[in-house]
Amino acid sequence: MAKNKLVYSFGGGSAEGRAEMKNLLGGKGANLAEMASLGIPVPAGFTITTEVCTYYYQNGRSYPDALVGDVARALARVEKIMGARFGDAEDPLLLSVRSGARRSMPGMMETVLNVGLCSKTIPGLIAKTGNPRFVYDAYRRLIMMYSDVVMEKAAGIEPAEGKGVRQQLDRMLGEMKRTKGRATDADLTADELRELVGRFKARVMEVLGKPFPDDPTEQLWGGIGAVFASWNGKRAISYRRIEGIPDEWGTAVTVQSMVFGNMGDTSATGVAFTRNPATGENRFYGEWLVNAQGEDVVAGIRTPNPLNEDTKNQQNRHLPSLETAMPGVYRQLDKIRRSLEKHYRDMQDIEFTIQEGRLWMLQCRVGKRTGTAALNMAMDMVAERLITREDAVMRLAPAQLDELLHPVVDPAAEKGADLIATGLPAGPGGAWGQIVFTAADAVAWTREGKTVILVREETNPEDVEGMRASVGILTARGGMTSHAALVARGWGKCCIVGAGSLEVNVHGKTLSVGGRVLKEGDILTLNGTRGNVYAGKLAMMDATENPRFVKFMAIADGIRAMKVRTNADTPEDAARAREFGAEGIGLFRTEHMFYGKGSEQALFLLRKMIVSSSEAERRAALAELYPYVKKDIKATFEVMDGLPVTVRLLDPPLHEFVPTREDERERLASALGISPTQLARRAEDLHESNPMMGHRGVRLGVTFPEISEMQFRAIFEAAVELIRDGKKVFPEIMVPVVGLVAELDDQKAIAKRVHDEVCAKYGVKRIEHMYGTMIEIPRAALTADKIASTAEFFSFGTNDLTQMTFGFSRDDIGGFVPAYVDKKLLPADPFQILDREGVGQLVEVAIQRGRATRPKLKVGICGEHGGEPSSVEFCHLVGMDYVSCSPFRVPIARLAAAQAQLTHPREAKAGSGVRGQGSAKAKAKTKAKQGTGHRARGTGKAKAKARAKSKAKTGAKSKTTKKPTARGKGGRKR
Ligand code: ADP
Ligand code: MG
Ligand code: MG
Repeated sequence: MAKNKLVYSFGGGSAEGRAEMKNLLGGKGANLAEMASLGIPVPAGFTITTEVCTYYYQNGRSYPDALVGDVARALARVEKIMGARFGDAEDPLLLSVRSGARRSMPGMMETVLNVGLCSKTIPGLIAKTGNPRFVYDAYRRLIMMYSDVVMEKAAGIEPAEGKGVRQQLDRMLGEMKRTKGRATDADLTADELRELVGRFKARVMEVLGKPFPDDPTEQLWGGIGAVFASWNGKRAISYRRIEGIPDEWGTAVTVQSMVFGNMGDTSATGVAFTRNPATGENRFYGEWLVNAQGEDVVAGIRTPNPLNEDTKNQQNRHLPSLETAMPGVYRQLDKIRRSLEKHYRDMQDIEFTIQEGRLWMLQCRVGKRTGTAALNMAMDMVAERLITREDAVMRLAPAQLDELLHPVVDPAAEKGADLIATGLPAGPGGAWGQIVFTAADAVAWTREGKTVILVREETNPEDVEGMRASVGILTARGGMTSHAALVARGWGKCCIVGAGSLEVNVHGKTLSVGGRVLKEGDILTLNGTRGNVYAGKLAMMDATENPRFVKFMAIADGIRAMKVRTNADTPEDAARAREFGAEGIGLFRTEHMFYGKGSEQALFLLRKMIVSSSEAERRAALAELYPYVKKDIKATFEVMDGLPVTVRLLDPPLHEFVPTREDERERLASALGISPTQLARRAEDLHESNPMMGHRGVRLGVTFPEISEMQFRAIFEAAVELIRDGKKVFPEIMVPVVGLVAELDDQKAIAKRVHDEVCAKYGVKRIEHMYGTMIEIPRAALTADKIASTAEFFSFGTNDLTQMTFGFSRDDIGGFVPAYVDKKLLPADPFQILDREGVGQLVEVAIQRGRATRPKLKVGICGEHGGEPSSVEFCHLVGMDYVSCSPFRVPIARLAAAQAQLTHPREAKAGSGVRGQGSAKAKAKTKAKQGTGHRARGTGKAKAKARAKSKAKTGAKSKTTKKPTARGKGGRKR
């Protein structure tokens, strides 16, 4: 620590930091430094590093010894640049103290503005500016922020609901406006504000038992400490949980000279996006307020003005835009917008302040955006030659695809619907739900399985958990850059803000609009894309096909090294997955033909087989069952024409199928010609105390070879009949729950015999197929070298492998895994995100040992992890040929696989094992290290282009944007 630099200065056209130093300086500090170096007007300042935050928490909330001196030196530099001195009686410099983590956490931590105002400096600043109104406005803001952030929150005081010092002062401000007849804060006069600060100080003393500090240096250090403390504030902690931001990162503190948007009618403050963050449209987009400071725009206190014509909407149409009110400043801002985009090659979210006609930039960062916007921007920027196709692929988080495939309100249903209000379309898609009025209710109701829409006057950072839990968010106040809008957009959540006709009564839990009153629990539908609020529940539909999405996915497909298959059990699922771009079936579970509608007869015959007591009886039942199994397999092969299908042999313990209903038992008994008592006894015999580890999988085939025989025959006959009809069928026979190579050999002998019999019957020499196994038992992974002597492919069943490796029963983890995650014993639920450290080791070992025996061994995954982005990356890293996942996650896996190839290029293995697939050897050696300019990627680019072209043909055929209407559970029970 001692030798590390603690403080980095910026301003006056240069900076010690750079944009790449986000880990050390936080996003805000790093980008302020970068802007200063670019010659963009930024008020001078300095940033205290995140390492000081770490030190602070490791050393009982104290600072390294050198910090005080380093801060003093950096401050002296700021004073020199700004030509004013902190704490000076005649020409005082004021400061802001700002927080900034590596990744932006909007509104989660604290900022204090106007630090340095006190009885010594106030007269000087009034004399210098000739603007007492401004000075007292700045001072009342300082008191409001400082008493809240430093004296209350950072001091660990937890006031009762509504009793916080900030709220009390807010009420006093409101009271003042009312008694003086002022419409907004900006209308209060200098005298009124001076009167107000006097009362504020008295109230602070009364509430907190301490005087408001009157010493600039005390204020400065109070602010710095409060920012560090805010890293561990409640809101920040829950936001980090949701976003998966590590607690260890810490925040930096940026101290910066103040510029003032509240100096009168030629001063203003604003927030903007270099492109529209909701749609992605390449239009400058933003909001601003004249004579205002800091958070006024975001807080939704006054309706902000539109930045320009493009930003006008129903709420702000009547207000002058910056473009017309201050054309010179607008042009300058637009120029900065363009140079920032060129420099960062991405959409930026910017904060600016205008002090008496002079523009200052206060922040820039990569802007949060909806999935739709992310897609559109990425594709636009490729066309604009701002980024490469590889960059574009990295610009969408795989989870955002999910949002692109999200439901929207059915326009047909919307036509005649009961429109009760309109607001700003802040978050995309559609949602319906029961309304609740507090974040806590949203969380509680959702936990009860209800679907809720959170309705608030406006949201604040305390509401994040409730916002997260809700399917939609509706606020009466706030603009497109308000807290609710920002957070919802980041999550891709349906959200409408600023629906001004709504009157929200939190205490009564009612919502009044146009003379009607809605109660908690009533249903509303939101169209977040248009900003419409409807009474009742409207029909939803899938987002329509988007050609840009298809094109984007074709680029991703041209890059990835792994194939993506699907887990599908029915021809319908298989067909849908093909539309999503699946390149085969990685797991076809035959037992699913015995569940659900239309399965009655097959299930009856299966039961007959199960309760048979002799081989002869069982064979007779199997013969009856056979046509059903063959038909089922054949139908799926047919849909997957040209693509491989992994058929897993019957896996679940038989007792699971024994009927429990009296009438079913009677019917079964009479079909077998036995008494119900006899049947009951046979059922009893099938009972197991731990079926999960019982008589299932390959064990069934070992004990009852005729069951395997029937299945092999069904697979071969289905295949040969389709091949005869000119179809391309590639069956991969997968034996489940294998722990010993001997088990595989035992079954292989049967498979071989049946294969030869079927060939003889149909007069063919060979039926192309593969024989392999699921790796789901640790013993199989460890003896993979032996297993691979028989198995031609491995498919990792990581659901069971995780279960067996941890010894966690998958059906019972609800009782303890959440606590493990909460207490950070586990980084995540290992059934959702593959545990690289443990389970991953088994996977790696198995692949290495398996390929040592059989270099061409085909390897894939068919557990739920196959559709989870970080697990997909792992599969890529260990050299799998494909991943397989439920149909609706196929696009996610395709993108995740492409991103894995870009960040960790490998010589592609894909295609090598998949017969009939051509060799899509994606040699994307693109050196796609983030941050390298796109010139460095020349060679990779050309190849990717060629690849994407050839792929685009197949891509165009597959209707990738259709989302399944009913999201299948995807996961198998066992
Ligand atoms: P957040 O991380 O919550 O966005 P910021 O540190 O960006 O917090 O501060 C919030 C707002 O305060 C900014 O948007 C800006 O308007 C205002 N602000 C911060 N520093 C200054 C400054 N030096 N001069 C003028 N306004 C400032
Ligand atoms: Mg900010
Ligand atoms: Mg299994």
